[in-house]
Amino acid sequence: MRLILMGPPGAGKGTQASFISERFKIPAISTGDIFRANVSKGTDLGVKAKRYMDAGEYVPDEVTNLMVRDRIDEPDAESGFLLDGYPRTLAQVEELDGMIKFTGHQLDAVVVLTVDQEEIVARLLQRAELEGRADDTEDVIRRRQEIYAEQTEPLIDVYRDRGILIEVDGMGDVAEVTERVFEALEDVPES
Ligand code: ADP
Repeated sequence: MRLILMGPPGAGKGTQASFISERFKIPAISTGDIFRANVSKGTDLGVKAKRYMDAGEYVPDEVTNLMVRDRIDEPDAESGFLLDGYPRTLAQVEELDGMIKFTGHQLDAVVVLTVDQEEIVARLLQRAELEGRADDTEDVIRRRQEIYAEQTEPLIDVYRDRGILIEVDGMGDVAEVTERVFEALEDVPES
């Protein structure tokens, strides 16, 4: 399975990604996690990414695309993967299309978690307290939501037009949402 998990910041992508990964035995590839790991290790990539992340802005496409390309080339992603947090721009969609086409495969489904804005802000502020993420202040959260609406929401239409979009209600218990995602994915034919 080659899957994308989408949704606004705070929709619970990371949590659901790990369940999907386990269920379908595919690696969950989170660009946010890879960036954060690089920031804490102080790599060149981390240094480049940090100022964008702290401001709630997207890291430039060239940087993100190269990073994803390298990750998808790893042996564990050969038989499938779940992308969490990528693509987030139309340029990234094109880039990903190229990467997948090159391997002779295709994208099977794009799952979008839909949630309400109010709940998201509450969740993110709570997470900020628990994890102390530098990009979880209220201003930055708002900025991330704006950018999502501007740059990432348009991707939903792109994938809907391709007939591979699955919208899942992301409100409610974690387990309930997982159940809905699994149910929706059951009908997806594997390529
Ligand atoms: P969120 O909680 O907003 O979904 P993530 O943990 O997925 O955030 O990502 C954290 C930050 O990493 C983003 O705000 C952005 O700066 C950067 N980032 C992650 N994925 C991408 C991407 N595909 N393109 C550009 N920047 C990205």
